[in-house]
Formats: sequence, C-alpha cells, structure tokens
Amino acid sequence: MAEQQCLIIIKPDGLIKSLTGNIITALSETKLKIVGAKIVSVKRELAEKHYSDLKENQIRKHGEEKGSQIFENTLKYIMGEFHTNRVLVLVYHGENCIEKIRDITGTTNPEDAHPISIRGKYGRINSKTGVFENVVHASDSEASAKREIQLWFQPDELTETIYPAKTEKIQTEKIVWA
Ligand code: ADP
Repeated sequence: MAEQQCLIIIKPDGLIKSLTGNIITALSETKLKIVGAKIVSVKRELAEKHYSDLKENQIRKHGEEKGSQIFENTLKYIMGEFHTNRVLVLVYHGENCIEKIRDITGTTNPEDAHPISIRGKYGRINSKTGVFENVVHASDSEASAKREIQLWFQPDELTETIYPAKTEKIQTEKIVWA
C-alpha cells in the first residue's frame, strides 16, 4: 500500500471538552507521522468549502427541509457556535493512512460508532439540534484528503511536500506584529 495523507480536524466539542490529548494519543497508535498542525477559527466560507458536498447528500437522504437543516447546523457546529470557535487541524502521513485513521475515529453517527473508537467514546447526538457531535473529522479517500489538505493548508505549512507545489511571486497584504 502506497503512502497516503489524511486531514484530521479536532472539532470545537473536542477542544472545549479538553479531548485533544486523548485524541492525539489514540491516533499515535497508528505510528503515522504528523506533517502539519494548526488552530483555526472557522469562518462560514471555509466551512462551506469543506462541506461542499454535504448539503446535496443530506437533501438526497432526508429531503429538502431536514437535509438543509442538518447542513446549516453542521456548519454552525464546525464554526463553533455550539462550543468554542476553534478547531485543531492536523495532517497525518504514512502507509495506508486513511484506513488506519478511520478505524480509530469510528463511523459518522456516534451512537453507531464502535464504543472504543474516538467517536464512540466521546461523541453524542445533540438532543436540541440533532447534530452528530462526533468530535473529529477524518478524510475518507485520497481524493478528499487532497482537496481538504489543500483547502486548509498552504504548502509551506507542511513539513513534507506531499503534493506538487510551485513558487510564485505574490503581492498581498498580511497581518504582521505591530
Ligand atoms: P463524516 O464526517 O463521517 O465524513 P459526513 O461527511 O457525511 O460524515 O458528514 C459531515 C458531518 O455532518 C458529520 O461528521 C456530522 O457532524 C454531521 N452529520 C452528518 N450526517 C448527519 C445527520 N444525519 N444528522 C446530524 N448530523 C449529521
């Protein structure tokens, strides 16, 4: 099996419940390498791009009204409206990375997830919003890993060149220390 990469997001419920250490320890069993990490306050544009297929999928599964509601609440969840406005985003790299990580994270619905998976242990269904508060996101294929990693990280934020990159001169405004 070739080397792969996988984007992990420790979602706002994971941070507010101080589960970061537990989650990283559980993932360290894979012996995969972390090649990128950062704390992000997720704005709507990024949330919509990350979940670009979710609205359509949820409407197909649950109909227009419920599907749109799940989508909206899932955006609010990742943007931190129910917990804290921070997520910790990590890139893991190594052999058979996606399957190894998804085994440990568990299935989407925390009530169906294996009890010793991360989602099974720490997730819940929010009884007010119906959102699966499942603590972590993990890329589910090589194609989605590439799309997601390139959405959340710039090439120079990773310690390895996992996808082809190029040098370009860009004139842009940037916040610097005053
Ligand atoms: P995964 O996160 O396992 O890749 P999806 O991409 O289908 O799953 O869903 C994205 C997120 O949307 C889930 O992690 C969960 O937080 C939320 N979600 C998905 N389906 C539902 C649902 N039926 N009810 C409530 N929340 C859901």
